[in-house]
Amino acid sequence: MSGTDQGVLILGGGLAGLSTAYHLEGVRPAVLLEREDRLGGLTRSFRVNGFIFDITGHLLHLRRPTVRALIDRLLPDEWASVERRSFIYSHDVYLDYPFQANLHGLPGEVVRDCLTAFVEAHADPARPAPEVLAQGSFHDWAEAMFGHGIAAEFMLPYNRKLWCRDLRDVTAEWVSWSVPRPSLEEVVGGALGLKNKGLGYNPTFRYPTGGGIEVLPLALARALSATQVHCRTPVVGIDPEKRQVTSAGGQQWNWDDLVTTLPLPVLARLVKGLPDTLRQRASGLQATRVLNVNLGIDRPDVTDRHWIYYPEDRFVFYRVGSPSSFCKASVPAGCSSLYVEVARLDFAREDVPGLVRRIKEDLVACGLLRPSDRIVAEQVMEVNPAYVIYDEHRRNTVPELLAWLARHRIHSIGRYGRWEYGSMEDAIHQGMETAAALSARKGTRSTPAGHNNQESTCLTNPASASPTS
Ligand SMILES: Cc1cc2nc3c(=O)[nH]c(=O)nc-3n(C[C@H](O)[C@H](O)[C@H](O)COP(=O)(O)OP(=O)(O)OC[C@H]3O[C@@H](n4cnc5c(N)ncnc54)[C@H](O)[C@@H]3O)c2cc1C
Repeated sequence: MSGTDQGVLILGGGLAGLSTAYHLEGVRPAVLLEREDRLGGLTRSFRVNGFIFDITGHLLHLRRPTVRALIDRLLPDEWASVERRSFIYSHDVYLDYPFQANLHGLPGEVVRDCLTAFVEAHADPARPAPEVLAQGSFHDWAEAMFGHGIAAEFMLPYNRKLWCRDLRDVTAEWVSWSVPRPSLEEVVGGALGLKNKGLGYNPTFRYPTGGGIEVLPLALARALSATQVHCRTPVVGIDPEKRQVTSAGGQQWNWDDLVTTLPLPVLARLVKGLPDTLRQRASGLQATRVLNVNLGIDRPDVTDRHWIYYPEDRFVFYRVGSPSSFCKASVPAGCSSLYVEVARLDFAREDVPGLVRRIKEDLVACGLLRPSDRIVAEQVMEVNPAYVIYDEHRRNTVPELLAWLARHRIHSIGRYGRWEYGSMEDAIHQGMETAAALSARKGTRSTPAGHNNQESTCLTNPASASPTS
């Protein structure tokens, strides 16, 4: 197909790219190019010594009926529905999530300070409306919404670990769906020990009963019959004038519409003819990287908590989860597993083996591991990019960049294509919507029908451990 006119060319075989391809089947011919040796992107799973690990935790939260229906159709019998058991570890106690609605158990003076400041913030007649606050910094948003006590005990230290930036420079645009805002009654009740469960966007989640989260991209991939899929095909150049993409080795791919899920700053480097100022601004978009350490332990009962947040600086990680607590099939009999997340803007100058040692020490210090525990599986991956940073620069750059690309029939979608804090569901939904928009707009060139040309290695699950990049 190289050098021939195409209908829709899709760059990236993560959930956004796969969903686009799936929804274009039978409507417009499509070709999908993926850099790695198999599909799935961030939703690949890895088998290490009998343990199945995802990239940190990948739990499915469904809000949209259309995506739920798709997933039920693709994988009708392969999901467990799990009631969330998530916690915050602070002052040597476990609090139910979310912190702000479950203060009971903290030292008395901490509860008093958090509660007093929350009531003051809540009653402050000068407090701007939440939507106005969300336009400002995360620091100011957290203090105004929760008072300086909850901000100082959880919101600020936890988010400093996650975003690796001064929180006065991070905007609060991303908080609306991800940070629960309990009522005064809920906060007071939680401080008195009344349970506030089920708050937030993820009180229950779905997870595959076996095979890791990769069963989801694999199900989408298996449903493709007309789309041509090419793995090990990194894209190295995009020419909007010629409507041509070049992959490593010099192969060229034509398109009438281009859907890309590549990270925006990478895309901006590859697109010919992008104004220099816009290219420069795109290079200033920032994201954190996450060191993901997955561990298999030869003890069955390490924890029944699904995941735990660690706001305190004495622990190097910001979050630890346990796949074995929500999926027994992900570990050999008699074993448990943990995933650990540490964020940095860059790991280049970091002593990563030293950091992994520190992680293990901290897991003992917080009581999750015992000194006698034997680690029988270990996987260390750097996720880059991991969390895109919301700041003024992002706000001023991304809409203009996306608009320029769209004018050239380049549709940039997905977590990093939109440069946003998106979920798996968001990626699938964006693929759906993009395909619907492109279905209405048939190609302007000859569009020969595709044929099924998936490389078999694109569909293996789960593969041996290999680093993400
Ligand atoms: C640490 C972490 C934890 C998460 N946990 C959850 C969770 O619990 N629940 C949830 O719903 N969401 C979670 N997410 C978000 C979720 O993973 C993403 O929203 C979703 O997988 C994004 O899919 P995508 O297709 O947009 O991007 P990706 O999965 O990144 O896919 C992009 C694809 O493009 C390919 N590519 C890149 N460059 C090139 C190139 N030059 N040429 C060709 N191909 C290229 C990549 O190899 C990749 O396969 C998490 C994300 C992270 C980082």
